[in-house]
Amino acid sequence: MREGIYSSDEQGHILDCNPAFLQMLGVSTLEELAGYAASDMMVDPGARELEHDLIARDGGVREFEFRLRRPDGQILTVLDSCTVARNPKTQVQHYHGILIDITERKEAEQALQRKQEELRVSVAALKASEERYTLAVAGANDGIWDWVPGAEVMYLSPRWKEMLGYAEAEVEGRADEWFSRVHPDDQDTLRCAFDEHLRGATPLFEHEHRIQHRDGSYVWVLARGLAVRERGRPATRIAGSLTDITERKRAELQLQHDAFHDALTELPNRGLFDDLLGRSVGKLRRQPDYLFAVLYLDLDRFRVLNESLGHRHGDQLLIAVAKRLQKCIRPGDTAAHLGGDEFGVLLDGLKEPADATLVADRIHRELSLPYLLGGQEVFTTVSIGIALSAPAYERPEQLLRDADLALYRAKALGKARSEVFNLGMHALAVAQLELETDLRRALEREEFRVYYQPIVAMDSGAVVGFEALARWQHPARGLLEPAAFIAAAEETGFILPLGRWVLQEACRMLQGVNASRPGEPPLSVNVNLSPRQFRQPDIVDEVRQVLEETGLPPACLRLEITEGTVMEHAEPAMATLAALRALGVQVHLDDFGTGYSSLSYLPRFDIDTLKIDRSFVSNMAARGDNAEIVGVIVTLAHNLGLQVIAEGVETPEQLEMLRDLKCGQVQGFLFSRPVAAEDVPGLLATAHATH
Ligand code: C2E
Ligand code: MG
Ligand code: MG
Repeated sequence: MREGIYSSDEQGHILDCNPAFLQMLGVSTLEELAGYAASDMMVDPGARELEHDLIARDGGVREFEFRLRRPDGQILTVLDSCTVARNPKTQVQHYHGILIDITERKEAEQALQRKQEELRVSVAALKASEERYTLAVAGANDGIWDWVPGAEVMYLSPRWKEMLGYAEAEVEGRADEWFSRVHPDDQDTLRCAFDEHLRGATPLFEHEHRIQHRDGSYVWVLARGLAVRERGRPATRIAGSLTDITERKRAELQLQHDAFHDALTELPNRGLFDDLLGRSVGKLRRQPDYLFAVLYLDLDRFRVLNESLGHRHGDQLLIAVAKRLQKCIRPGDTAAHLGGDEFGVLLDGLKEPADATLVADRIHRELSLPYLLGGQEVFTTVSIGIALSAPAYERPEQLLRDADLALYRAKALGKARSEVFNLGMHALAVAQLELETDLRRALEREEFRVYYQPIVAMDSGAVVGFEALARWQHPARGLLEPAAFIAAAEETGFILPLGRWVLQEACRMLQGVNASRPGEPPLSVNVNLSPRQFRQPDIVDEVRQVLEETGLPPACLRLEITEGTVMEHAEPAMATLAALRALGVQVHLDDFGTGYSSLSYLPRFDIDTLKIDRSFVSNMAARGDNAEIVGVIVTLAHNLGLQVIAEGVETPEQLEMLRDLKCGQVQGFLFSRPVAAEDVPGLLATAHATH
């Protein structure tokens, strides 16, 4: 038997039992239970009294459950069925009973109960969440979807369908209804995002793509979802939402477009151009024979057009230029507006270098056609610098810089043309830059000097004035003549501060000399004005100011201007000449005979003197025709009421010939080389002594 059978006395001491009972209590002999009473046996305090009462009332109990503590301390749950018996002799009560160990069953029961309780709680929670979910789906602005990956069916909420313009019944709940509507360009990335999340590579599925609306347009949506999976197993389900982000996307795209495009011309701006150029350079690094070209464009005379036409028409011109530029390039190429009147063109993937110049030629042709602005035909030309890709290029700005250098060259060579960058331009630019910095520093360090060469009257042989000539006392190279720096100064604009300084020096020096010779006729000073100085809008004011500052009478100042300078822009030049003469200053036309001037203009220029270029004087004796030319010039001058000065007189023979030709004044090494300011008084003294 598995049940334990026992008899016990009133206190519960076991009197006799079967082996199953002993086993149940964890002992092997009855003796071991000596002294083990009911009070030891029953764990719960009230249990013994309760059983007692039941037995007293009914004469026994059936299946009374209690918890039993074995002598070894282990606790069992047991069912006790027992009857009471009385020993007629001793009147002592005995109990006979059967004990069943239900510990295991009890534990199983309790576990089951706990499970049931848990289940009840989770069912309630599930119900709540389901309700919440239903509410959410119905009320959400987002579409909801729910899918077993790979299955044909897919739950698509009514709102999901509505977002694409369909009624609930018009679209079936199938995965295909979604995926087949996705924009072809977005399908791959969408599939990727799905797969990654299903594989467990991303914590959340999230993807922005375009879906075709019922009306054929595309709406931008954001799809988000979460897969259900057991650890380490493939996902069994994925569900999520679909949000219409068309508005946000449109704003984003607009912002992006604005950030990378020029508002006026709608062309890519400098930022985007740099970016694209960077990509081409990157490609060049991977593929050294890759060929592309950068064209740097600058409209010629745009400032003049802009000012004369007005800014509104100037803008229209830029827009028109942008449109034409785009017509000149292939779809893969880029035309960008780099700012002002500057444009950039990136020609990608060229077959040969000549392709770049072909495009440049097309641009020249296209841009030089007339533009109609405000009912008026306007013409413009463009200068283009071209830089071709070469393996040496590492950064986009290097190409831009070289294209810019080539553009500078194209401008210098006369505009309306293209130049392809070559390495020589670097050397040229570097040398020029160095010279420019040197020049500025030289002015600050007072390294410039003015030298003076006397001008002599033919009849009396007396010094009547000086020509002021610039020199550079270079700390390393010694005394430099104008040939070494005037051209660069003119090119860079440095001639303006330098020229002003020479003018001041010369006027101050001469004023000092004249003051030191009271009673003598005042001497004059000739100062050279470069083309750039002469074209300066405020040149007249500048001359007036210097005269006031130095106190030199205007009649003592002669400004030398080359023939070329006045001829180049004859009309404005005439006005400047007149204004200078109105100040009381004389104007001399320098290097006369070298400038191909139209003689018909000569009478219209407000000038005082012609200076015959020394190339005619120096060859006068050797080649007879030069003497004739000098003679013609002298006659011409006299007929126009002008004075004549012959430059570069080196020999007594030249002097005699000039005297015969009735040349009034002479200047040259025969009398004196140009001398430093401190040597002028000495020179005057000797000249005085000689005559
Ligand atoms: P330029 O104005 O025609 O000046 C006359 C030049 O002829 C001077 O050269 C002078 O030294 C030189 N010369 C005078 N007599 C003789 C002679 O008998 N034989 C020879 N072989 N040469 C003679 P320099 O000083 O070298 O000046 C050269 C040019 O540089 C000047 O030609 C002038 O155009 C320019 N220049 C000089 N100083 C200035 C200046 O301050 N401003 C501007 N803008 N140009 C200047
Ligand atoms: Mg001169
Ligand atoms: Mg000269």
